[in-house]
Amino acid sequence: MKSYEMLVNGEWVPSRSQERREIRDPGNGEILASVAEGNSEDAERAIQAARSAFDQGTWRKTPAQERARFLFKIAQGIRLSARELATLEVKNCGKPLAEAEFDVADAAACFEFYAGLATKIHGETMSVPANSLSFVVREPIGVCAQIIPWNFPLLMAAWKLAPALAAGNTCILKPSELTPLTALELGKIFIESELPKGVLNIITGTGPKVGEILASSSQVDKVAFTGGTVTGRRIMSLATGNLKKITLELGGKNPNLVFADADFEAAVDGALFAAFANQGEVCSAGSRLLIEKSIHESFTEALLKKIPLIRLGHGLTPGVKMGPLVSKAHLEKVESYVKLGVSEGAELLCGGKRPEGKAFEHGFFLEPTVFDHVKPQMRIAKEEIFGPVLSIIPFESEEEAIQIANDTEYGLAAGVWSKNIARAHRVVQQIRAGITWINTYHPTYNELPWGGYKQSGMGRELGLYGIESYLETKQVNVNLDEAPLGWYS
Ligand code: NAD
Repeated sequence: MKSYEMLVNGEWVPSRSQERREIRDPGNGEILASVAEGNSEDAERAIQAARSAFDQGTWRKTPAQERARFLFKIAQGIRLSARELATLEVKNCGKPLAEAEFDVADAAACFEFYAGLATKIHGETMSVPANSLSFVVREPIGVCAQIIPWNFPLLMAAWKLAPALAAGNTCILKPSELTPLTALELGKIFIESELPKGVLNIITGTGPKVGEILASSSQVDKVAFTGGTVTGRRIMSLATGNLKKITLELGGKNPNLVFADADFEAAVDGALFAAFANQGEVCSAGSRLLIEKSIHESFTEALLKKIPLIRLGHGLTPGVKMGPLVSKAHLEKVESYVKLGVSEGAELLCGGKRPEGKAFEHGFFLEPTVFDHVKPQMRIAKEEIFGPVLSIIPFESEEEAIQIANDTEYGLAAGVWSKNIARAHRVVQQIRAGITWINTYHPTYNELPWGGYKQSGMGRELGLYGIESYLETKQVNVNLDEAPLGWYS
């Protein structure tokens, strides 16, 4: 069993309380590692380390070219350890290996993207009024607390660290207490690459004991959070003490709209992938499938025929397409939504139960679950379930589809399937969501902004927008007129 400590000021340290947490494989219950369990004292230590590192300026004054080279080195380190990282990710959070391999490659690509951007942070110049030169420079914000969830542990760490470090900030990363292992391995890659002390600190532990200290500290200049909407609201309120800059990437209840004129096969495949990739534990999952009435029956039938292809099992078993849920508590939460759906009167077409057999005995598995005839006002159509549960909602017209799609407090993602390109654009224009796909679902690009409307969040990650949220803007005014001002003469 591996043992992990926390990264504070360039050193691996145990928690002050000496407490530890066992990390288990949700697919078979095997103990994977023992991890230091941080608390408020550890969080404070990390904040101090990040604060001094920022104030001393070793990283922010490091030439952008060197910061870029460093981040390219991190990307290379990830690529060199890709196999180990992907295997560890599967064991820690349950996803199938092919998905973990994709995440690891994407995490490396994220560091490469922001390594490239580090040298392209530009200001502006202007001459207003005459005899003056004014310019605008971009500077790092300072100490950034970055709190991430358990569904994409390494990838979320990359989305947070790469732009923050490219811009010259110092960071305190808090992975989810359930899935800290790949973030800690990433920490090792940083240390091997000789990052100056205190620039990256990683504190493990729970939200209440560690996350809240980070979110409320007056020594922290920015908090970047990915997680549930309820937690996001709490973090926002904690961050008001010193008016921290905030970015929030929160939940979703995303509509996936299939019109009768869509490519039938492609839409069936896309609807399954939208709902069941990563066990449905995806903020942008297409968990509400809106199908035009004229194809509702045939489409649902085709979808159900393909459900057996979603082979359940441990993510490292070859051929497995869906792994266990992340924890017992989460499995029970998802199961409670299945019960709720039945009691609300939705028609359970398949799944809803734990699979039987030896391979599933010690894991948190749930069969892919499909409800039909879901009404938009039902709770299973409104609340984020964050598991392999799909709700089918039939619609009559384009207007009704848009109305149902937008009838949610969330606004993260949406998909539209139609061969009529004018219609597809028209519909996307009216959907209140930050990420939209036409005739596809889920592709995510480091180059494009990621984030939500409404209660799905604030600000954007990735792309040029992602680095913006780690930069301050300063105006500098130079008087070119040497004569005294003469205001009081
Ligand atoms: P969560 O909100 O329970 O926890 C996320 C992180 O916040 C964890 O590190 C947790 O320890 C910490 N935390 C919990 N309570 C806290 C508190 N009071 N103060 C400070 N930190 C606290 O979310 P989760 O269950 O880990 O992840 C699932 C959620 O994340 C879903 O709602 C999902 O939609 C969302 N998510 C969003 C995106 C996105 O890009 N929008 C991406 C992935 C996940």
